[in-house]
Amino acid sequence: MTSDAAALDVSDLAGRQVTVAGLGVSGVPAARALRGLGASVTVVNGSDGEPQRAQAAELEPLGITVRLGDGETLPEGTELIVTTPGWKPTSPLFLAAAEAGVPIWGDVELAWRLRGADAPPWLAVTGTNGKTTTVRMLAAILEAAGLRTAAVGNIGVSLLDIVLGDEPYDVLAVELSSYQLHWAPSLRAHSGAVLNLAPDHLDWHGSMAAYAADKGRIYEGNQVACVYNVADPATEDLVRAADVEEGCRAIGFTLGTPGPSQLGVVEDILVDRAFVADREKQAQELAEVSDVNPPAPHNIANALAAAALARAFGVPPRAVRDGLRAFRPDPHRVEHVADVGGVAYVDDSKATNTHAAEASLGAYEHIVWIAGGLAKGATFDELVLTAVKRLRGVVLIGADRALIGEALARHAADVPVVDLDRTDTGAMAAAVREAARLARPGDTVLMAPACASMDMFTNYNKRGDAFAAAVHDLASGRVPDDQ
Ligand code: ADP
Repeated sequence: MTSDAAALDVSDLAGRQVTVAGLGVSGVPAARALRGLGASVTVVNGSDGEPQRAQAAELEPLGITVRLGDGETLPEGTELIVTTPGWKPTSPLFLAAAEAGVPIWGDVELAWRLRGADAPPWLAVTGTNGKTTTVRMLAAILEAAGLRTAAVGNIGVSLLDIVLGDEPYDVLAVELSSYQLHWAPSLRAHSGAVLNLAPDHLDWHGSMAAYAADKGRIYEGNQVACVYNVADPATEDLVRAADVEEGCRAIGFTLGTPGPSQLGVVEDILVDRAFVADREKQAQELAEVSDVNPPAPHNIANALAAAALARAFGVPPRAVRDGLRAFRPDPHRVEHVADVGGVAYVDDSKATNTHAAEASLGAYEHIVWIAGGLAKGATFDELVLTAVKRLRGVVLIGADRALIGEALARHAADVPVVDLDRTDTGAMAAAVREAARLARPGDTVLMAPACASMDMFTNYNKRGDAFAAAVHDLASGRVPDDQ
């Protein structure tokens, strides 16, 4: 039996039977890479729709077998499984693999093992929220320092494509999800960061402890710095539990005044008290809070984490400032859409869980909150309790809106709530108009739903687009036909 993932080596894959679990942005490059190594590759995928058939048509001419419509049965003779991130550890395919002693690698594990001897180091970021933003900030800082870099990984850029591509890099800014970390036991980053930890994806991991442990893998074998969030002690616990290289340091980031070996904020300045000659007495100015876009508290924390990783790599302070100034947030992340009648309209459609929504609700003083969607098993009492003082009113949409409505009734009985009782796409326009009625000049209408979008929209991008379109209609006095 070869149940130990380390027993197989990438140099030894020629002629081996490898099964790839899943197609898509990670599965297709994995299948191609394995075929390139001479393995005999079968890709299995549970769905059998148009997009899957198109991908199969791309792979089959390379001599890759694609089995659609059955993601559960272990193909005969499989010696290794390479999995894409979404598959649960309890999937029947993996249970069958465990039974047969077949090792399972994630696509990140495969990429890590395939990188060449002079491969660029990885600066790795994980956390429940803020990963994409932090990785993009980090890449912007590294670029400002004149380094050849890219934001890769869970951000939608396959690490395999990067590792096997021709483009030379000095360093990579890598976003890793808890799923990817779960299946990447031999990954050893130059430096790693866990931004925060809140319950999410527990159905996949089984428990909060298992989820945290998978996130904590990012610190294993770090060479220079393990970056943690001072305000989230669970992240520091993960640093303590990690087995790192001799001399690797624990570096905290905080929105308060930093202690030695920390980065933090002093009077609107981001300062570094970690990567300086004398950290007991010295602090290095990196940037101003106003250099961070947008300068909301959670985003300043992201900027500090990105700065810590960049400084661990030896980037000078000025590049941190220039990189943060050059950084532009991705759409739908606390995005200011327009001011209408003295009210700001902000799209945080990417706030698909309560931890993310809490961060953006904490960034504004008087809020009309548009919330609701698919709750994914979440409860809303804590979120409502932390936000109640800021709420001018609430507009509820989506399938699980009653769960938020009940929490509001328990903890915010005085706050006016409009329950739209709709899950059709046009509901967003109605929600914006209701929100406009509740708002007063100086307020912010914040669409931070704390829920997933798939009950009403294809994804959070479409939900954000619908919000922005409704705000623009409001600004121009247009009323859409379906109202
Ligand atoms: P991820 O890649 O982890 O999903 P993003 O950078 O895309 O993170 O941000 C997702 C959402 O999480 C944003 O819309 C924002 O509301 C929220 N967010 C971003 N950074 C943080 C943070 N440090 N703490 C809490 N919430 C955050």
